[in-house]
Amino acid sequence: MDYQKILEDIYQEILPFASIGRQADYIPALAKTDPDQFGMCLKTVTGETYEIMQSDTRFSIQSIAKVFALAMGLSLKGEDLWKNVGKEPSGTAFNSMIQLEMEKGMPRNPFINAGAIVIADLLLSELEDAEAGFLGFIRALAGNDTIDYNMEVAISERENGYLNAAIANLLKYYGTISNDIEKVLMFYFKMCSVEMSCRELANAFLAFTNHTSFEYAGYRLSSSRIKRLNAVMQTCGFYDEAGEFSYLVGLPGKSGVGGGIVAIHPLRYSVAVWSPRLNSKGNSVMGIKALELLTTYTQESIF
Ligand code: GLN
Repeated sequence: MDYQKILEDIYQEILPFASIGRQADYIPALAKTDPDQFGMCLKTVTGETYEIMQSDTRFSIQSIAKVFALAMGLSLKGEDLWKNVGKEPSGTAFNSMIQLEMEKGMPRNPFINAGAIVIADLLLSELEDAEAGFLGFIRALAGNDTIDYNMEVAISERENGYLNAAIANLLKYYGTISNDIEKVLMFYFKMCSVEMSCRELANAFLAFTNHTSFEYAGYRLSSSRIKRLNAVMQTCGFYDEAGEFSYLVGLPGKSGVGGGIVAIHPLRYSVAVWSPRLNSKGNSVMGIKALELLTTYTQESIF
């Protein structure tokens, strides 16, 4: 398969979508991002790398961080993790509170904000230094020790994160989280502020393609848990657009409002794509289009 040519063809074909949507601006520090950027990197399990455009430019991974947090949580707690968070698609926006009150403080899944805040609380309870532990895990997965939090983005989100603060308060009221609200929120925002490139994300997600057990920075996931992590990405990775992403692309994946998307073809490759302009669901317009074309041109998807 000539993945390099396929990526180059994809880029030409998605150019008509280049000015659709806009970058996330509800986080003021992200509003400053140049919206007209694009990168893509595909890494195969056999070690080849194919990339185009700004695949080496770092950006805010935002909700993609929730996959790393869930992997750590599963490694630390196993099936007990699911006592405080569900694994059903929500069909609602990533920051919605509607179900959370009706379902008495039990978030639908770990990829909506409420669920990720629960995982942040779990990591704070389980680890002596959760912030260092989280970074250490990502650095080990990506094979790069310079990956870091962006404090300007984290603080900017904290200063404007009224909805996430409301979610954390509701979770605390129902007893789903146990740590101090401010501490949990700041850790959650820091996780989202991590900056990585498409190349680094594709590298990190290779660990989730293999279906053989792995251990990075002391966190171990069995092949069975990796399978389950992929299942949650498939059903919940794109919030109220999870069905559409499944329909168009046919791979498990996860998006973030920084404009990044990572997807996995089990036993074949991981692929990361980035373009800051988002659709109304908070997912990258060019990113979804590029991945749709990837599975169309290669005729490879999980279905
Ligand atoms: N930090 C963002 C938030 O909580 C993450 C959302 C996202 O990437 N979908 O709103």
